[in-house]
This record gives sequence, structure tokens and C-alpha cells, in this order.
Amino acid sequence: MVNFHTFSIAFCTLMFFVCNSLFLEKFTIWFKNRDSIDYLGLGAFFALAYAIFLIFFLLICHRKTTKIIAIILCIFSTIVAYFIKKYDVSVDRTMVMNALFTDKSEVHSLLSLQMIPYVIFLSLLPIIFITRLTIIFPKNYFIKSLKIILISLAIAVGFGYSQYNSIHRAVNLSRKKIVYIVMPTNYIRSSLSAFNHTFSKKFFSSTPRDIKVEGKVLKQEDLIVVLAIGETSRQKNFQLYGYDRQTNPILSKDKKLHVLNGKAKIGSTLYALPEILVKNDIPLTAITSKLGIDTSCYVNYSLYDNCAIPGEIKVSNCKRGKLCFDEDTIPYLQENLHQYKSGPRLVVLHLGGGSHGPSYHERYPIEFQIFTPICKDADVINKCSKEELYNTFDNTILYVDHVVGNIIKTLDKSKLNYVFIYLSDHGESLLEEGRIFHGMPPGIDLPPEQAQIPLIVKSSIPITIKKRPEYTQQEVFDTIIDLLNIDIKVADKTKSFISKNYSK
Ligand SMILES: [Zn+2]
Repeated sequence: MVNFHTFSIAFCTLMFFVCNSLFLEKFTIWFKNRDSIDYLGLGAFFALAYAIFLIFFLLICHRKTTKIIAIILCIFSTIVAYFIKKYDVSVDRTMVMNALFTDKSEVHSLLSLQMIPYVIFLSLLPIIFITRLTIIFPKNYFIKSLKIILISLAIAVGFGYSQYNSIHRAVNLSRKKIVYIVMPTNYIRSSLSAFNHTFSKKFFSSTPRDIKVEGKVLKQEDLIVVLAIGETSRQKNFQLYGYDRQTNPILSKDKKLHVLNGKAKIGSTLYALPEILVKNDIPLTAITSKLGIDTSCYVNYSLYDNCAIPGEIKVSNCKRGKLCFDEDTIPYLQENLHQYKSGPRLVVLHLGGGSHGPSYHERYPIEFQIFTPICKDADVINKCSKEELYNTFDNTILYVDHVVGNIIKTLDKSKLNYVFIYLSDHGESLLEEGRIFHGMPPGIDLPPEQAQIPLIVKSSIPITIKKRPEYTQQEVFDTIIDLLNIDIKVADKTKSFISKNYSK
């Protein structure tokens, strides 16, 4: 006989520690700090994963479900632990979906006698034990469950925030692998994600939401607004912003650039893109398209659903064959300009390679490998020196300079009326106070190196830039609406920072 809560905590603790201790070394390598292992960070990561598992268990286990769920978890954990240990698999959503829909004969070929000890110790013995147990549910057991859930949540959040840098670094260095192998949180999370993916696809068709746009174009003007969105590039390594290395050989020669103090708010691409492209749930490109302004989005990687109307065009037939780089958006721009006759137009270019880590050297073609030696390992902290890390990052900025420089050259050559805006979605930490990559926990401001992003404007028509200490991404949204003479409630024209100088 055992009390429900005692059982829940004992079961979850045992399962968590037995499974993960089978391949503890797969975690420790990502928590290395030079020669020592960051046990505090590793412990915090485990505490977080354990708390999530316990909360999930307490939420779904009730009088009739506890034993059967515990048994199912034993069976799944046996299979998953075996495959992680033997085949080093990462359990993400795609893996779960493959496992569900794959040819079952493939699974047969993967099973072997080596699985027997796993089956005995992780399934057979625990299941016999569980079936023989009598679990007692006290009155109001769910109230007590909620108390445990709250305590777990507090512990998880506390550990998560206090060891954020270590966990964030390990997740990035391992390319999320530690999230995909920590058991059983990995397969619970991936199964929920697979369910959500299938469900939302089935019931919410992929056609973009019907967004109501109430506004009008006040004046039809011949003007092309080109917005280029970069990735992970930061002011600190731009020669244009005072960096002492020549990382902007092309842009620094252009005396007509307006180099502004851009400010990012969120350190994650997924949430940073809407900062630039969406306001109050209304996407910029939906406004322009629906008001009859010719709008196109050309992307290397993806703008996600921020350009669902009119739809994004992903670069293909790339110049260097299989590998696409940010420069591959330029032929699309050229063709777009070639087709232009008159009126207002918006072109969004997503330079999604930018300076994204941890494999910075994969973001640029080989001829941009000017600063050497470089860092070729994703484990930038342990396998590379700071000099190598900076060299590689600076090469990405050299390439950004090349791409942005060529976009401007293309626009200048076209002799059309244009306003060009380039900005990055967020910056990057390169070991400032021990931080690496980008992202901060909710509610905590981005550190300067992640917040200070390049914001560059060039125009073929006379403009004035309103002087401000900094320019936010939402102000870029307002500015573009203003440039295209759109009158719409969602935009605040007083926030626009570019005004057109009309000759009187
Ligand atoms: Zn990003």
C-alpha cells in the first residue's frame, strides 16, 4: 500500500535518474567549461527537466489512470533509453512522427538481443511491482498534487533563471541535443509537439488567417521600399559602428548611408521577426498586399508566417549549387525591379543566414574567410579560442557587408525611387560576461551586445532622418507604413523616423 503522492514522486525520481544515468556522459560534455564540468548548470538542467516530468505526471494521473500511465511510461522509456544509448538518437517531433508512421519492418531490424537487460530492468520488473501495488488516493488528493506542482514549478523557474547562462549555452552548443535526450521529458515533449502539429494541420488549414485590414493608401507615389532583415548581426562588430577591424569594406565607402542605433527587444528569431513585421497581430505585408501595394518576400531560410500574405518565396537555384547563401536573394530583387513600372511597392528580403551560430563558418562562402584562424567546431567554448571565435564571426559580418552592399548597388543601378532599410533581428553574445549566442529568459532585457543591432538606411529620394537616441524594431514597422503613404489605425506615424523631403 502506498500513498499516491509518495508513489508519484518515487516513480518519477527513479525513472528520471535510472534512465538518464545510463548515458550521463552525453550530458556532461555540453556542460564543460574548459577543464572542469559545470555541475551547478548540469544540476539545474536536470532539476528543470525533472520538474517538468513530475508536473506532467501529476496532472494526468488520477484514480483510474495512474497505474496504466506508469506502465506505458516504463515501456516507452525502455525503448527510448535503448535507442539513445545504442544509436545516439535525438527524440524530436520528426523522430516521433517517423516512428509512428514508418514501415514497421524497419523497427524489427533495429531490435536485438542487447535489448533484453533494458526490458527486464526498465519494463518487466517495474511493471510487476506496479501491478502488485495498491495506491491510495487521499481525499482532495488533487489539491495536494497542485501544491507539489507549484513547488516544482518554483524550483524549476528558480533553477532555470539562476543557471540560465549555463543551460542556454549547453542547449545551443549541443544544438538542442540535451533537450532531445533527457528522459522521459524528451519523448513526452516531442509526442505532445507531434500531436499538436498533426492536430493543428488537420483542423486549421494552412491558409493564412483572414486578417481584416481597414486603411487606405492616401497617395499613389512611385516608391519602392526595400526592407532587408538580417540575422544575429550586432553593431559591436560592424566597422560602421566603430569596430576597429575592417568588417565593412563596401558599406564604409558609401557616404550616403544613414547609420542608426537600432535596438532589438527579443533574442529569438521566432519572436524577433514579428517585432519588425507585425504590430497588434497585423502583419505589415498583409496591410500592403490588401491595400493593393505590390508586395514580395524573398527568403533565405524563412520568415515563418509573418509573410503568409502574400506568401514568401524561398531562394532556389542558388549560385553555388546545393548550398544557398544570403546573396541568393539578390537575383529575385533584380527581377522584381526589372518588372517594376510605377506606384508604391514593398520588397522584403530575409537574409536568414546572417551571423547565426554556433557554426558561424557555414554562413559565408569560402572567399569571405579573410580573418583567420577560424573556429570550425560547434563547441565554440571548448574547442576554439576567443580569437578564432571573433575571426569567424567577423567573417560573417564581412559577408553581410558584401550582401547588403550588393543590394544597395542593385537598387542604385535600377535608377528607381527607393528607400532601403537593413536591420538585424537581434545581436549576439560572444562571451561577454560568460554569455554566448542569443536569447534571455522572459522578463529580462537583452544585454547590450544582443540589443544593439545595425540599422542602416539608404534612399535615392531626399529624406530626413528624425534624430533619436535609438530606433526600435516596431518603429521600423511604423516608418514603412508612413513611407508608403498608408493611413491605418495600427501604425503610429509619430513613431516613423524617416520623412520624405518634397521639393516645393
Ligand atoms: Zn535570429
